[in-house]
Amino acid sequence: MIADNIRSMEDRIQKACERSGRKRDDVTLICVTKTMPVEDLQQAYDAGQRSFGENRVQEINDKFPKLPDDIRWHMIGHLQTNKVKYLMDKAVMIHSVDSAHLAKAISKEAVKAGRVMDILLEVNAAGEESKFGLGYEEVLPLIREIAPLPGIHICGLMTVAPYTDDPETNRVFFKNLRKLAVDIEGQSIDNVSMTVLSMGMTGDFEVAIEEGATHIRVGTAIFGKRNYDI
Ligand SMILES: *Cc1c(COP(=O)(O)O)cnc(C)c1O
Repeated sequence: MIADNIRSMEDRIQKACERSGRKRDDVTLICVTKTMPVEDLQQAYDAGQRSFGENRVQEINDKFPKLPDDIRWHMIGHLQTNKVKYLMDKAVMIHSVDSAHLAKAISKEAVKAGRVMDILLEVNAAGEESKFGLGYEEVLPLIREIAPLPGIHICGLMTVAPYTDDPETNRVFFKNLRKLAVDIEGQSIDNVSMTVLSMGMTGDFEVAIEEGATHIRVGTAIFGKRNYDI
């Protein structure tokens, strides 16, 4: 079933790329595996998937040693500074940076670990009260503040758009995120490149691709409904 779901995802991603004149290689599918057992992750792996997203450090820690080591783990959930250290030998990217405090903690641990961590700034694109993330106007000042930190590379923006039955209603938020990334790129700040746009989930990834997503984060369409939503 998971392999079938991945095949149909591939088909839909391909079509969205064609519609918008983009190359399939320019879009990375991140399989969001939160709450799913390692057997399911292994099935996705066997179907050719290598990028996995989790939103809790504890789950990455548990699953990491049980799965092949060429998996690229993405941290996509809200992150506490005291947990950052556990990600240094596991994650390739942290999508959910929304404060200088967190960026400093990542910088400190990355330097300690002798690596550079790719980070994205999370934007609350629809201004929802229930969501984490920065307001649009907060992004550039934060980037200017944290760009000089060692051990991190700011490589783009991430958003979790509102849950909706009509993906078209989220198009404006994806457009806005892209526009913000272009504006920031135009500032030519050292250590900042806006090459990653992490946006689009099960309900709206095709619209996100049409609006420039480079990374889509998809769980339900691949693994089925989660028992609880975290
Ligand atoms: C759970 C989650 C997803 C995947 O959501 P689906 O609707 O199941 O595709 C994507 N991004 C984040 C940050 C998530 O927490």
